[in-house]
Amino acid sequence: MDTKGLNHLLLRAADGELERDEALLLATVTAADSAGLCDAAAARRDRAWGRTLTFSPKVFLPLTNLCRNRCDYCSFRRSPGDEGEWTMRPDEVLKTLEAGATAGCTEALFCLGDTPETAFSAYRRTLTSLGVRSTVEYLEECGERALELGVFPHTNAGILSADDMQRLRRVNVSLGLMLENVSPRLCERGMPHFRAPDKRPEVRLRMTREAGELRIPFTSGLLIGIGETLEERVDTLLAIRDLHREYGHIQEVIVQNFRARPDIVMADSPEPGEAEMVHTIALARVLLEDEISVQAPPNLNPNSFASLVHAGLNDWGGISPVTPDFISPGYPWPHLDGLKRSCESAGFGLTPRLPIYERYVEEPGWLDERLVAPTRRALQKLTTANQISESRL
Ligand code: SF4
Repeated sequence: MDTKGLNHLLLRAADGELERDEALLLATVTAADSAGLCDAAAARRDRAWGRTLTFSPKVFLPLTNLCRNRCDYCSFRRSPGDEGEWTMRPDEVLKTLEAGATAGCTEALFCLGDTPETAFSAYRRTLTSLGVRSTVEYLEECGERALELGVFPHTNAGILSADDMQRLRRVNVSLGLMLENVSPRLCERGMPHFRAPDKRPEVRLRMTREAGELRIPFTSGLLIGIGETLEERVDTLLAIRDLHREYGHIQEVIVQNFRARPDIVMADSPEPGEAEMVHTIALARVLLEDEISVQAPPNLNPNSFASLVHAGLNDWGGISPVTPDFISPGYPWPHLDGLKRSCESAGFGLTPRLPIYERYVEEPGWLDERLVAPTRRALQKLTTANQISESRL
């Protein structure tokens, strides 16, 4: 395709008019050389998000690593009795939250295995000993503790029913579920989601839709490098775009790269390289609506900051000063000073944000009523702190 043809497609993408066949064509013709796509994505990011990148200072609480699924790329999950099995006790939760609050974290990320009570009687006994009937009830209690400390919960607990989301909405400023990929092929025998019933695309799409119906600010994302095709990546982005067009609830999309580790089924699978991350981020930026934040985890891409920024990324997601990345052990968060210097070398500032984007705080109906005032106060505090730090430059 010549430059004129590519520009035509990019213009249609900017107007939000790209049909599936055009999105696929755009993805295909830019796969080997994404320079033009990246330029367009970076321009879209600059217009929509300016020249300041963001991150969310978070404390990470892996409430339980018991999970009823078995994804071939996961080194987090455990069954009862496995070495490293862990369900956080209330005192551990509180201690971790206090450490986060002391370190200035504004997000409490509760990230855990999928409904372990449906698979393990030992875990059901654990819940009983904690005085709760379900993981969601426990999450709600922990969310209350976080709010008391001024840290705002964001929960990714895998598949939740509409009732469960409604319940968690009372203590969470946003919820999340990586769509990962809409391809049912990845659930076939020999594929990474074969032993993970909750990774069926229709189940994940249903929950994402229900979150929209409930008007819950929502984080979605793609996982790349797990055997999906380019076409399946595009379809995943378009599925997120379509749900957002219907409900307006997708606040951010994470582009996460598979990383191989010796303790997983996919230990010998090739990891996606920097070029694939760059291409996917740029595609996400041009295919998704401008108001959706596009992020990638810096700890999984420690040598690619400048390239990812040039591909149109505007956010680094959650970074914790007090807890490791329990989902991807062995990949430490970058030091903020170093990340800031990298952003500045690329011509950008770096500033903290909340785990909910401002428009959802200001527009009525997205946040539980009692969370609006504290979230507004925290937003104001962040804005003031950012203004002071800018005036010192
Ligand atoms: S990736 Fe999530 S759903 Fe899959 S096994 Fe790990 S914890 Fe469970």
